[in-house]
Amino acid sequence: MPTLLAKNADVLVTMDDERRELADAGLFVRDGSIEQVGPTGELPRDADVVLDMAGQILLPGFVNTHHHLDQTLTRALPAGQDINLFPWLRVHYPIWARRTPEASRWSTLVGLAELAASGCTTVFDHTYVFPNDCRLDDQISAAREIGVRFHASRGSMSLGESRGGLPPDSCVEDEATILDDSRRVIETYHDPSRGSMTQIVLAPCSPFSVTPELLRETAVLARSHGVRLHTHLCETFDEERFTLTNFRQRPVAWMETMGWLGDDVWFAHAVHVNDDEIHEFAKTGAGVAHCPCSNMRLASGIAPVKKYLAAGVRVGLGVDGSASNDASNILLEARQAMLLARLRIGLLPPEGPRTLLSTSDPLQRSEWMTAREALEVATLGGAAVLGRSDIGALAPGMCADFFSIDLNTVDYAGAMNDPVAATVFCAPQKARYTVIDGRVVVQNGQVATVDMAPVIEAHNRFSRELANPQPTRSL
Ligand SMILES: [Zn+2]
Repeated sequence: MPTLLAKNADVLVTMDDERRELADAGLFVRDGSIEQVGPTGELPRDADVVLDMAGQILLPGFVNTHHHLDQTLTRALPAGQDINLFPWLRVHYPIWARRTPEASRWSTLVGLAELAASGCTTVFDHTYVFPNDCRLDDQISAAREIGVRFHASRGSMSLGESRGGLPPDSCVEDEATILDDSRRVIETYHDPSRGSMTQIVLAPCSPFSVTPELLRETAVLARSHGVRLHTHLCETFDEERFTLTNFRQRPVAWMETMGWLGDDVWFAHAVHVNDDEIHEFAKTGAGVAHCPCSNMRLASGIAPVKKYLAAGVRVGLGVDGSASNDASNILLEARQAMLLARLRIGLLPPEGPRTLLSTSDPLQRSEWMTAREALEVATLGGAAVLGRSDIGALAPGMCADFFSIDLNTVDYAGAMNDPVAATVFCAPQKARYTVIDGRVVVQNGQVATVDMAPVIEAHNRFSRELANPQPTRSL
């Protein structure tokens, strides 16, 4: 069984039950699982692979709980830069519908490479347009190629424009096809065991792109196979208007009617919720994928993350699709989560006694998101959202998923009084090493498992073709 030793880290953040932060420490891995964590002097002296982490901070791998990897093909699209969600979707739907199976591989590799180099070791992806014989299999095989722990969703859209939905009819599938393929990918790929590298999630896209029947039947199918459920919810006021107009219910109540509140469900965004709905999430165990960059980029709003955490709602981070971020950088997302939670304090009345006017009043301490809280949401929070107890912390018996960052750099100079907080407060840095399942996936900031240069070249070529399907003739 292969072994790996990571030693001499200046600081090691465990996220274990005591939230220990260890100096001059490391960990020993056997067969993808952590066997020992502690001071370097107490670890075995040798292993098949030895990583010297002197001058680095070592952290548990981050968990990304919401993405659309195929959108790396449409980053910074001129027509989609300065509009909010509904018009942004209308611009992108027909372009995404021209994706090919080969492009699925390139976009998955590009998105996962960027994530891994920013410290992400487990990724949930929400693909919901399956044109031109594209299949979930294309993405799962790309994730295995690069070596990232992957929760893939068989997403879906079934409510086209002609029936009152937002997407064009050409982008939706019929429900029997969706459910048959969902069953197929669950039976082919879903591995619920400890240490699993591949899991399947069922994920109808949103209340305005699927029928009530599909929501209900998807939940039944998922629960009969023990897989989790995911969708977008409470992202914009447009969505709220859609469910109020069509179903006479707010989005959360509509989901409850559909049988979609439970501890096997998590929702992307969950920005526009009231206190009762937050309480409902806490009571039923429904989780949240917080996507601050996307929410800012599309002017969607600020999710009440501190309220969710205070209520005991499971919250993880999501970079969201690369066409609405337009980065797949999870460390950047952790920083943005911390900053956006603070901006909310400045924009809204204090949560405490109304006589308080100063954001610095000690009674408002609990409203501030700290760097360590952001790190916890990025690791343990994401693991909880995905229903995993084997990732998110560095302790014996946990998966060997971690990353390191060089501390002795210009970017961190002057911040070494608290190197742990520096990873969130200072500009997001590339990982020196990212290890997933005991395998070195990123080395010196570069993906070590796949030659990315030809992938980037093919990805860029196809991305230009997608955006310009009928190039003008050159004179
Ligand atoms: Zn999304």
